[in-house]
Amino acid sequence: MNLDKLLRNNIKALKPYSSARDEFSGEAEVYLDANENPFNVPYNRYPDPMQWAVKKKIAELKNIAPEKIFLGNGSDEPIDIIFRAFCEPGVDNVVTIDPTYGMYQVAADINNVEIRKVRLNDHFDFKAHDLLSAANLYTKAIFICSPNNPTGNLLDKTEIIKLLTEFDGIVVLDEAYIDFSPENSFLGLLDNCPNLIILQTFSKAWGMAGVRLGMAFAQAEIIRVFNKIKYPYNINILSQQKALELIDNEGEKNEWVKIILYERAKMIRKLFKLPFVQIIYPSDANFILVKMNDARGIYEYLTEQKIIVRDRSKVTLCENSLRITIGSPEENKKLRKALKKLVNGSIED
Ligand SMILES: *Cc1c(COP(=O)(O)O)cnc(C)c1O
Repeated sequence: MNLDKLLRNNIKALKPYSSARDEFSGEAEVYLDANENPFNVPYNRYPDPMQWAVKKKIAELKNIAPEKIFLGNGSDEPIDIIFRAFCEPGVDNVVTIDPTYGMYQVAADINNVEIRKVRLNDHFDFKAHDLLSAANLYTKAIFICSPNNPTGNLLDKTEIIKLLTEFDGIVVLDEAYIDFSPENSFLGLLDNCPNLIILQTFSKAWGMAGVRLGMAFAQAEIIRVFNKIKYPYNINILSQQKALELIDNEGEKNEWVKIILYERAKMIRKLFKLPFVQIIYPSDANFILVKMNDARGIYEYLTEQKIIVRDRSKVTLCENSLRITIGSPEENKKLRKALKKLVNGSIED
């Protein structure tokens, strides 16, 4: 991979904003360099623009160098930055699978970049060859998501590896749901794959969607480019503090994942018995995609019962399908009760 050939010229030439905290980042007694207010400690101070304390913790957790980590305001930020770094508006394009996470399309549209979509097969899986065939000289990146949203399944590992070896642009692998899956992350392969960018997030297994903290992992030369593009203080003090606290609770995260996986199995078992349920697709994530008779009608019925699921009926290959997040045992029970009531007016689980 030739990074210089992939990057936009304006980004290569970009001189990033240099903040007070960039110019002096050591320990001092008196800070009079950033026009901060001396009162209201500690919120008066700008946060560390590079979030080194948080990155060091993540580095230990994931066994990866801090220089290969980018932190963003959710995964949405690195997704947008990938477009801004590599894709010349109106000229370049990216390739992705269909269906998949909607933000790739939105980020492409915002950046005026063509997105070429390759439909998944009946097993919601893909062949590297088909994505490579959709690519041309202007294809800067291929976005894939495994486990995929909204289908829930892991994609074929050997096909992902084929993409990584045969495509000479960037391969973005979104692993938002990797903690719920039986497979290992691709993080272990990062050093052998210079064109790989892995996205992970604290929004799902870690239970921090409100904190807004997404991670991108890649070679340090790619991360340096992302750091030039991002807003100088993209992760605020509160998010950095909360993340530092919560990353120490890995044990608790693992307990949550265990409960959610147990509940997922239970949900699948019970929903199978409902006559209007046609297919429950295999899931490696914290949600299930369920095909049923009259998905829209059931969605509306559930909404009346104050239970909200996601109607994916209009999404490619997801006709008549609802995406159901696995919640707490109590929430899941409420959903099942409501669905059962629909069948026979009875309320036992
Ligand atoms: C939920 C989700 C994310 C996480 O987004 P954040 O901005 O980090 O909250 C990323 N990718 C996919 C596919 C998701 O479903």
